[in-house]
Amino acid sequence: MEADIVIRGCLVLTMGKIDVIERGLIAIKDGAIIYVGREDEAPNFKADEVIDGRGKIAMPGLINCHTHVAMTLFRGIAEDVELGVWLRETIWPLESKLKPDDVYYGALLGFIEMIKSGTTCSLDMYLYEDMVAKAAVESGIRCVLSSGIFDVGHKMLGKILLKKALSLVKRYHGGEKGRIYVMLGPHAVYTCSLDTLRKVSEEATKHNIGIHIHLAESEEETINIKETHGKSEVELLNEVGLLRSNLVAAHCIHLSSEDISLMAKNNVKVVYNPVSNMKLSSGIPRVKDLLDAGLIVGLGTDGPASNNCLDMFETMKVAALLQKALYRDPRVLPARKVVEMATIDGAKVLGLNNIIGSIEVGKRADIILIDVNKPHLTPLHNVYATLVYSARGGDVDTVIIDGRIVMRGRMIKTVDEYEVMRRAAEVSQDLLSRKGLKEIFLRILTKK
Ligand SMILES: [Zn+2]
Repeated sequence: MEADIVIRGCLVLTMGKIDVIERGLIAIKDGAIIYVGREDEAPNFKADEVIDGRGKIAMPGLINCHTHVAMTLFRGIAEDVELGVWLRETIWPLESKLKPDDVYYGALLGFIEMIKSGTTCSLDMYLYEDMVAKAAVESGIRCVLSSGIFDVGHKMLGKILLKKALSLVKRYHGGEKGRIYVMLGPHAVYTCSLDTLRKVSEEATKHNIGIHIHLAESEEETINIKETHGKSEVELLNEVGLLRSNLVAAHCIHLSSEDISLMAKNNVKVVYNPVSNMKLSSGIPRVKDLLDAGLIVGLGTDGPASNNCLDMFETMKVAALLQKALYRDPRVLPARKVVEMATIDGAKVLGLNNIIGSIEVGKRADIILIDVNKPHLTPLHNVYATLVYSARGGDVDTVIIDGRIVMRGRMIKTVDEYEVMRRAAEVSQDLLSRKGLKEIFLRILTKK
């Protein structure tokens, strides 16, 4: 049988119906998985590319369900402050000075970091999202884009940003043969008027696309909303018609039991961002309660300015540990569940579980190989525990996205990573030197 790529001799974690396959073989043709099973039972494949998978774990690529990838440019410039101060005093003033090219290089840098740590698909929200799209196309990553929409009291701004978001849908949704998708991205309930949220709801229905929002992240804003409207953020989203199965709600920290029930009733998808929630001291979502209510929960890093990296292996570990500490119960979020959240459940969150999230025949080939021939990964008794508690992004050796090898032996094949690092550092420096910003930065620094 003919194949484009064959991976031989690996331990396969399918995250599908079959659990683990020892000495497995995976065959890929035209971007799709055409065989997964034991090597000694496999047909005789003739392939252009044969990868020796001995000493490696093959698993579905990790899915980062909430990020703002271009914020790599802000890595390390607003540290150890809470969310409101972080946004108002540094991030928003900086973002107001962004140019499209900055976003392009920031996004490209972030996508390289993602690929190098095993992420093959992410859900993004940002400004100049067409530049993020360009970077996604060039890097070879799979991406769901959402152009940020907010109006903060300026009706016209909401209209302009919604128009921009719809033009992104037209240009990129389903692009690159189904590697790029688009959602609408109302930033949050506290940054969008109800009128704008209603329009987003109408357009999402009209175009049959998902919606990506920040929900109940800040306690202060959650209280403000309740005081202003007499309703919770979740109740307001329900009122404007946004509480639906293709709503991806990031954070979901400050929720009442009634909010959780209402979300579960409407099959809303949740993204848990443990590192960002801890770093900005936003609080801890009650993930066990969310799961017990029947909600599907994926994992995200959030933007690299509030993390400060995009390593989903780190996120998996922190995701598990934080919940165990919160519930004071080591049985909460066992390792296998965490790997599910980073793969197949993440695919469900993005509405892409029919094409990605597991290694199964017929799905697109988004596969990573982890080199386990290392001291910190030896011995290999429990593969899920090894991946969640011991592995690091740097253990990823090979990355295949949509049947294309984008990294092999830790070398990125699609773009020149050193050139991207150089340009991203340059534009970040230039951004800080733009009028007025250096003073803001210095003010934050000298506050401590
Ligand atoms: Zn975010």
